[in-house]
Amino acid sequence: MTVHLSNIGFHRLRVCSMGRGPATRPPGTLEGGMMADFDLSINIEFLFPFINAVARNAQLFDNPPHIRFSFEHTLCVLYPDRGLASPFDDKEDAGAFMVRFIAYLNDIYHRQESIEPRHKCFSHTATTQILKLLPQTNCNECGFNTCMAFAAMLGRQQTIPGRCPHISRPLQEKAVFPVHDDNGKLLSTISLDIDNTENMDALESARNYIRNLEKKIEALSLVKSELQQEANQELPSPLSRREVQVLQMLALGSTNMEIAHALHISPHTVKSHINNIFNKLAVNSRTQASVWATQNHFI
Ligand code: SF4
Repeated sequence: MTVHLSNIGFHRLRVCSMGRGPATRPPGTLEGGMMADFDLSINIEFLFPFINAVARNAQLFDNPPHIRFSFEHTLCVLYPDRGLASPFDDKEDAGAFMVRFIAYLNDIYHRQESIEPRHKCFSHTATTQILKLLPQTNCNECGFNTCMAFAAMLGRQQTIPGRCPHISRPLQEKAVFPVHDDNGKLLSTISLDIDNTENMDALESARNYIRNLEKKIEALSLVKSELQQEANQELPSPLSRREVQVLQMLALGSTNMEIAHALHISPHTVKSHINNIFNKLAVNSRTQASVWATQNHFI
């Protein structure tokens, strides 16, 4: 269903610094730096499934309706008529970003007819709950150093359960169905449990296919690892192994607290590693460090 309204704009942009600790930050935003809080000129809930289809790392939630995604390595959270984005170095940085961000939303808005909407919704599951599904042996077979790191990334839908060979098979699958009003506008979604017993063979075959793909990815990872080492050695002062781990988690959007939990170090030590990383990379923000990590194949 395509909705034609006037273009999307924003007003009442407020840029404020974010407090430390999850209790002082809106859900989903990152620690440190500045956060942009803005009102949208129209209600864009109808656009969420289209954003969900094309935006990087998109996660759609239905209660309350909002969508999280990355744009230019910045975490964006959109509600029907307002939004949040973080982190920024200063007000100027946030203002320039907003111009590009609104242009991006308008581009999706105008391309609706050529985008297949994605209605898949997520419910947030706490990392500690996901951890209960894992044997907590920290065996590293999933590619994450700890089960906690894997659980944190799984909770953010940034990895898939199948990467841990020790996790149990799902008992049931959920299907999300759209509920429309008389004009075809999306009102909400309803999730139904589906008995997938008959699909287990197909699931197993898909898992084998994924395992084969993972072998190929492993071969590519060796190449990636060489590129990483090359880039690191070219720095005036190369990153230590621990700094590389911190950089990778930082680039994936983890907060200092999450990095500290995953690597079993204190938040103070994480902060000190991040300062060293900034100095060695000659950058002064998490965004710039993330861009460097991406460009040099660290994530
Ligand atoms: S493969 Fe599973 S058990 Fe091993 S570290 Fe990863 S999540 Fe933990």
